[in-house]
Amino acid sequence: MSKKQKKSLLRIILSAVLLIAAAVFEHIAEPSWYIALPIFLVPYIIIGYDVLVKSVKNIAHGQVFDENFLMAIATIGAIATGQYPEAVFVMLFYQVGEFFQNWAVGKSRQSISELMDIRPDYANLIKDGEITTVDPYDVVIGDIILIKPGEKIPLDGEIIEGSSSFDTSALTGESLPRDVGVSDKATSGCVNLSGVIKVKVTSEFGESTVNKILELIEESSSNKAASEDFITKFAKYYTPIVVFCALALAIIPTIFTGEFKMWLMRALTFLVISCPCALVISIPLSFFGGIGGASRKGILIKGSCYLENLSKAEIAVFDKTGTLTEGTFSVTAVHPTDISEEELIEYAAYAEYFSEHPIACSVKSFYGKEIDKSKIHDVKEFAGHGIEAEIGEHKILAGNKKLCEMHGIEADDCEQTGTILHICIDWKYAGHIVISDKIKENSAKMITELKNNGVKNVMLTGDRDAVGKDVANTLGIDEVHTELLPTDKVNIVEELITKKSKNGKLLFSGDGINDAPVLARADIGIAMGGIGSDASIEAADIVIMDDDIGKIGTALKLSKRTLKIVKENIAFALGIKISFLILGAFGITTMWMAVFADVGVSVIAILNSMRTLREKN
Ligand code: ADP
Ligand code: MG
Repeated sequence: MSKKQKKSLLRIILSAVLLIAAAVFEHIAEPSWYIALPIFLVPYIIIGYDVLVKSVKNIAHGQVFDENFLMAIATIGAIATGQYPEAVFVMLFYQVGEFFQNWAVGKSRQSISELMDIRPDYANLIKDGEITTVDPYDVVIGDIILIKPGEKIPLDGEIIEGSSSFDTSALTGESLPRDVGVSDKATSGCVNLSGVIKVKVTSEFGESTVNKILELIEESSSNKAASEDFITKFAKYYTPIVVFCALALAIIPTIFTGEFKMWLMRALTFLVISCPCALVISIPLSFFGGIGGASRKGILIKGSCYLENLSKAEIAVFDKTGTLTEGTFSVTAVHPTDISEEELIEYAAYAEYFSEHPIACSVKSFYGKEIDKSKIHDVKEFAGHGIEAEIGEHKILAGNKKLCEMHGIEADDCEQTGTILHICIDWKYAGHIVISDKIKENSAKMITELKNNGVKNVMLTGDRDAVGKDVANTLGIDEVHTELLPTDKVNIVEELITKKSKNGKLLFSGDGINDAPVLARADIGIAMGGIGSDASIEAADIVIMDDDIGKIGTALKLSKRTLKIVKENIAFALGIKISFLILGAFGITTMWMAVFADVGVSVIAILNSMRTLREKN
């Protein structure tokens, strides 16, 4: 819990205790109002001062109608009509709601940044020669902290003792460690690698680099879902309407009946009932719950809008290699023309040395021997084709048929099933290597799951037609496009996007090799975290941390469940609200009933939201 959260919890407990004490005292002693009022005012001020201050400030800024205003006017009105305990309780309950909301936001933020692995959990504070472990939030400017090797730097500061090297990769992507010494800057979020250092803190945690990055993540996660936007827009119209209705309720009947106090009471009750706590709290909470629940399963969702989009998925597009298949090819046959098998493999491995493509990695591991880098020159990689390189004295081509055709060389026609790696030496065909890939264990299950949810499946691949069709058939994929270049993949996705229905969304999942543009273009881009490139994790909206393709099905189910809960909460809260508002206007409900109606609705809505967090497969 942060300092801020502890403080608000303390306020809640303190004012609750004082409220109970005041209520008991009032019940026993039955004091007159000038004694009762100050006794209740103490807990009221403790719990409500910030709401009052905020509403005054907002009015000064011309933003009158927000929830602070609603709370302030309803409770002040209650006090004016002598309903002291009600006033304190309403404010207290509102703060409990806020507390819960902050707590939930903090939790989900923690789990998201845990995945990003940059959030510092503690700082070793040096005070009077003693070292204590504290929350980074509790460290102030000028404090001295100690950072041991292997620890994250919790706050920004300046090194005053010791020297070390920092791993800055989480912040900069730079993989080389940086050497640092006295009077160098220590940036939070880096990892201290080698030495023990003392750092004088130069900014509070709220202003620190790591917190700013966390805020960025949060902002990306404030890529708000349409349903969340709905609440913001809703509040903008709702609050003034309610306030004017209350005003009308206090004035108009009074003109006819003259009973001002009674109608004022009804108007105030009306205002208290109208507080949309339940809606305001439960909808973001449902989304946070969904995102949090997903992150526990190793699915990182960058924003609630992606969760919402996912629930509307209509077309799912997959890259083949490394996504539906393992991407670790095994060599099944080697067919040289003039040279030996060993030589053919050797040339292939040398040519592929600098490539990260799954084919390259597999060939290198099959070759298994040390590669002499000094022999490799002039490497060019053609996306969707293969490699051209100079190995020793020879020009080597290693790639598919398209690559050979590009250089006007005729490649063997291959009957074998499998991906073919053709090799040419000095512009002459030298043979081919047949390699084959394995379909991932969970691919078929996931495709069936998507189909059962009415999602159409499309597979894209740069591989041979025979191989692509074979994989698609085995998995039962609806539509398959083969022998594509990276740009073809973007074009096909564009086309599919225009074909789908207006509200339906297109999902694309790839391993990030040659498909980052498609990931960014799709409504929902899903990247595989483990083997995917950094670029694809950046471009993606959802990252599956452990490469388990089956988790796409899990994520889809989770999104549908979350959205169902959100809709339930909206309908439930609005329904109860409107009926109580009508009852309140006719004086059928009292202020206490109104308070409990709101507590009840909020609690039920929150409990309902919490279901998104619970495990269920
Ligand atoms: P996929 O759509 O199957 O993920 P890519 O677009 O990454 O495939 O590549 C398409 C085809 O281009 C591969 O099947 C392979 O024939 C060829 N290719 C691409 N990169 C390489 C490489 N580094 N070495 C050999 N062949 C390659
Ligand atoms: Mg690929």
